[in-house]
Amino acid sequence: MLWLIQLLFPLALLLWLAFLPARNMLARIFQSLGTAAILLGLHLAGLWITPPWWTPWIYWVLFAIAVWRGWRMQTRPGVAAADYALILFWAGLSGFGGWVSSEALVARTAPPGEIADLAAPLAAGRYYVASGGSREIVSSHLRTLPRATIGQQNYWGQSYGVDITAMNQWGLTASESTAVLAPCAGRVVRSHDGDADGSPVDLSSPTARAGNYALIRCGQFDILLAHFRKGSLRVAPGDLVREGQPIAALGNSGASDLPHLHIHAQRPGTQAAPFSGKPVPMRINGRFLVRGDRL
Ligand SMILES: [Zn+2]
Repeated sequence: MLWLIQLLFPLALLLWLAFLPARNMLARIFQSLGTAAILLGLHLAGLWITPPWWTPWIYWVLFAIAVWRGWRMQTRPGVAAADYALILFWAGLSGFGGWVSSEALVARTAPPGEIADLAAPLAAGRYYVASGGSREIVSSHLRTLPRATIGQQNYWGQSYGVDITAMNQWGLTASESTAVLAPCAGRVVRSHDGDADGSPVDLSSPTARAGNYALIRCGQFDILLAHFRKGSLRVAPGDLVREGQPIAALGNSGASDLPHLHIHAQRPGTQAAPFSGKPVPMRINGRFLVRGDRL
């Protein structure tokens, strides 16, 4: 599905612009605008892991070539009925691409109110933010914000969460083991280990989606770090951790379909549902992280 939306769709639009540009000048302007708006929306809001983050830059080069090629072809004067249909179609795509782009840009601003300032939760390396930001288009975590269902209530605390994946030097998913670090000094209040990557998750459980995890209380906030590799957890409830202390290895346990670290800040939840506390936006090394950011 991702390949279809982020690879075939933009390539089809670029081929269209390069080889079958609208014959009418106005229609061609709208075609160029619509193509650019879709590329921008995909660039800003897309999940660029496979294909990797630099793919949209290739699209921009192809776009420049397509526009240049298209403008060299002759245009036909006068606006025919078919041209109006094309103009309408491309105006629609422009609007859609513009809306997606603006949502992705607005998502870069943290919600107002308190914010948790944290240190890096991962050892030095290359990372890609797969999910994060203040709009649902770039962070599916926000689906729990309305608290309309029991499931959403149990996981309310994760609503401003961030997912981080490890990359190799080409921007593709890294396979080597990555250390997860305590992002603040505090005390471990809960933890779990023993879930294998990809094993089925009991969706009715208030904690199972996190897989192997550590919940660390730092001052007034609880910080959840989740989806650790089975057997990698090095801390237990009651342990004091210092900022930067290795606590586990990045993994794919719990509700996770690619190896990543989930991190979020919240007010403490209940004993029965520890991730049900009030969600708190965070900054990591001073940055409010949004999908597409690289660390
Ligand atoms: Zn997450």
